[in-house]
Amino acid sequence: MERTQPEISIVIPVYNEEKHIADSLRQIEEELRSLVSSYEIIVIDDGSKDGTWEQLALTARRSGSFTALKLSRNFGKELALCAGLEHARGRAVVIMDSDLQHPPALLREMIRLWREDGKEIVECVKEDRGREPANKALGSAMFYSILNRLSGYDLQGASDFKLLDQRVVQAWREMPERNTFFRGMTAWLGFDRAQVSFEVPERAGGTSQWSFLSLLKLAVNAIVAFSTIPLRFVSLFGLIFFFGAVLLGIQTLYLKLTGSAVTGFTTVILLLLIVGSVIMISLGIIGEYIASIYNEVKGRPRYLVSRRLESQAAPAAAAD
Ligand code: UDP
Ligand code: MG
Repeated sequence: MERTQPEISIVIPVYNEEKHIADSLRQIEEELRSLVSSYEIIVIDDGSKDGTWEQLALTARRSGSFTALKLSRNFGKELALCAGLEHARGRAVVIMDSDLQHPPALLREMIRLWREDGKEIVECVKEDRGREPANKALGSAMFYSILNRLSGYDLQGASDFKLLDQRVVQAWREMPERNTFFRGMTAWLGFDRAQVSFEVPERAGGTSQWSFLSLLKLAVNAIVAFSTIPLRFVSLFGLIFFFGAVLLGIQTLYLKLTGSAVTGFTTVILLLLIVGSVIMISLGIIGEYIASIYNEVKGRPRYLVSRRLESQAAPAAAAD
């Protein structure tokens, strides 16, 4: 027996948010109750190591329609989102963070744009990035402008706070790649879209889980997934250095013939260093793409669900 389809599914990835997750969920649910007749909340516990799962179990006891999935380890927010999108059944799905930095008050306008204006994607755009440290703001501005140049998608200010109609979710599910970049993929999909701008409030508690390295990894993955231009740079480097080599070759021959050949020790060392580093960088770029192909070809599941909680007396659903 299939349960009735809710109007809205809310998908929330969480990682180590035991302190405020219950309160955030309460606020989100309160807002939802005043907006739609039926909804489901799907929380993906991305392998939290603190008491987040216990908090989710408590929430399941009081909440109307609540599902929690626990991933077998920390797979990262992108894959936690995948898990949520694959399990959501609503006629529209809203993706939001668990720390109230995606204000539940915006749900009203998002749902209105979907219901009344027939928009298929409603994306919330960050007006300012909250009290974000300057280095992080600068880093993300740089990343988005590089990504824009390389891929043609302008994602400056984009957030993962989005509403997707079920048609969009269906199309999204048909994208087979393992290296997912939610913001970019929804931009690629097209569909009729609307934007709502918002100011990012302070975090509800705790600290952001993103380290510099995890952000760098996200940035490299996004660029590799959305552009092959860096591969062309490799050939360009090659060409530039070939011309350089020809010029230097001519100069060396000329000096040799005119008998004024000097022991160009410095030149040799410099050339070795420069050419060596260019080759290394080029190999690294190619390596990133090969790694990405390798990961896709392995065809492993994107994530593994180790536990599942359901607030409603659910029919004997097939276990994951
Ligand atoms: N998150 C996750 N897996 C991770 C890191 C973060 O599911 O490995 C969740 C986190 O619990 C939050 C959302 O992703 O709901 C956004 O994370 P965070 O607030 O740390 O990022 P920021 O707001 O700084 O972009
Ligand atoms: Mg946050």
